[in-house]
Amino acid sequence: MPSGEADHQAISRRVAAISESATLALDRRVKELRAAGNDVISFAAGEPDFDTPQVVVEAAARACRDPRLHHYTPAAGLPELREAVASEIGRRDGLEVLPEQVLITNGTKQAVAHAFTLLLDPGDEVLVPSPYWVSFPEAIALAGGRPVPIPTTEATGFRVTPDDLDRHLTPRTKALLFVSPSNPTGSVYRREQMLAIGRWAADHGVWVVCDEIYDHFTYDRAEFNSLPVVVPELQSRALRLNGVAKAYSMTGWRVGWLVGPRSTVEAAANLQSHVCGNISNISQLAALAALEKAGPAVEEMRAAFARRRMAMLEYMDRVPGFECPAPEGAFYLFPSVRGALGRAIGGQKVETSAELAAVLLEQARIAVVPGEAFGAPGHVRFSYALADQDLAEGMARLLRLLG
Ligand code: GLU
Repeated sequence: MPSGEADHQAISRRVAAISESATLALDRRVKELRAAGNDVISFAAGEPDFDTPQVVVEAAARACRDPRLHHYTPAAGLPELREAVASEIGRRDGLEVLPEQVLITNGTKQAVAHAFTLLLDPGDEVLVPSPYWVSFPEAIALAGGRPVPIPTTEATGFRVTPDDLDRHLTPRTKALLFVSPSNPTGSVYRREQMLAIGRWAADHGVWVVCDEIYDHFTYDRAEFNSLPVVVPELQSRALRLNGVAKAYSMTGWRVGWLVGPRSTVEAAANLQSHVCGNISNISQLAALAALEKAGPAVEEMRAAFARRRMAMLEYMDRVPGFECPAPEGAFYLFPSVRGALGRAIGGQKVETSAELAAVLLEQARIAVVPGEAFGAPGHVRFSYALADQDLAEGMARLLRLLG
């Protein structure tokens, strides 16, 4: 065996069964291509292009100089940040949340991993509306559970109904994953639809894991609602996941949170105390400044995304073979590209959305995530969280290749 190589059998079956995050893999590939001198426009990673607000950066710089923060702090999070998260939820949702119901995590991704580790015993099932974000099935499987995809289509705006849930309910169903606004589709559930889904979960004693990371980004008539706020009976069986990454353009700072019943959060804090101890104190104080002082920056970003969304939808209308309903949230478009498949593009026969994404990267130097990564072949995901001029140049390249 060459040095530096491990015996493959050394890796557990659980970990050997997962592959690299498709979104992050593509982001890595884009960075490699750029480092090699290629001019790549990326619609791939869902990451705001704005700098982190200055008021946040300054708070972090001050935090670096505070010796109290150079050492371990409580595993569940700095008390002032737990309190700020609880009071932000209280203010917005009119729901009393105690700081003890908030666990600060290393990015929202860690909140996702904790949520499933907390809830699942081996073989427990989680209903996962599909298309789904790439990491959900893997996080469920890593926690010993079984993801049960529930297919949806454009016809329902990629939303599930209680009938869909009924068809997939078994005695092993432990939780429902609920994501609105959605990554990758951008769809947002209406309040009445949430009422029906929430009541279904409450009636069947199913937990809900709510990914609320795009809560600030809704457009047109759509508005964000939280499932356990719409259906309060769910509060004793709901975990809400969120963080500062998207709303405050702080993807690299890695601060998220999990909010749930007090006893569940206590168990989560025990888990975290063994997994990673406390989250970086500097990042936690940066997150605190974001919540307390960066509200205006969020609104500026939202306005920019709203403008780019309209521009992108106009471009999409002109791409032959693409069909793109207007999603009302997040910062993604998820067109069907089926009409562009089955023909030669740039001299290459393209049969699948994965092949289309590969050709777009090779020949037009634009990166998009193929629907296969989200359990939805025949689509590709475009993030429009990129600068206006890059967006225009990227779409011009797409139109030149496909037009
Ligand atoms: N959530 C973002 C996305 O879907 C960031 C990348 C990731 O963590 O998957 O692109």
